[in-house]
Amino acid sequence: MTNQLPDEITWTLINAEDWGGGLERTYRAENVEHAGCGGDVIQVHLHDPLDALLTARTYCAKCSEALSA
Ligand SMILES: [Zn+2]
Repeated sequence: MTNQLPDEITWTLINAEDWGGGLERTYRAENVEHAGCGGDVIQVHLHDPLDALLTARTYCAKCSEALSA
């Protein structure tokens, strides 16, 4: 079983909040779900105060398994 997601993913911004040093934006994949369990695929972008992207991680909202996009 692979955790690799398809190349063409439509991301929708579902949440943005200040984590204290910038914005944390949460996106949900509209056209894919986790093949392992059918859960939503979530991507979280952590930005610094100048809005530069610090880290991005993708995971399943249902089982929390880390995914790669
Ligand atoms: Zn899952």
